[in-house]
Amino acid sequence: MSDPAPGPSRIHGTGLFARSSHRKGDRLCRFSGPLADAPPAADAAGRTHGLELEPGRWIDGSTDANLARHANHSCDPTAEAVRDGDRVSLLALRDLEPGDEITFDYGFGLADALQNPCRCGAPGCGGWIVAAPLRPLLRRHLLRRRPTGD
Ligand SMILES: [Zn+2]
Repeated sequence: MSDPAPGPSRIHGTGLFARSSHRKGDRLCRFSGPLADAPPAADAAGRTHGLELEPGRWIDGSTDANLARHANHSCDPTAEAVRDGDRVSLLALRDLEPGDEITFDYGFGLADALQNPCRCGAPGCGGWIVAAPLRPLLRRHLLRRRPTGD
């Protein structure tokens, strides 16, 4: 079985893609990097590759060895980030074929969501990168804020 590989994504910039067939539940790769007590700095493209384990405890996934840093967010993801202690792996949420894009729910809170538009194109996409359980709340909030007459 081959490791996933980065490639051009229709969602955003570079994405992560399966190079083998995977069954639902397979571990695709690990979100790897040193532990840190703050989110890592943004890269030249303005993207940060940190994963928050709990408040004040992060995995700094900025290193080249961390394939998972290429995975885009999707509102209809093909993988999920599963934590085991201080380790996080991306597990397939469905069967995948070579070439399928590997995405997961970044799980952003409301404060981060409105600075991160989502272009995943999934039918249920809320337009912003926000954790799935918060999507209905954000949608109601934005509906109330929408100016009349447009
Ligand atoms: Zn989306």
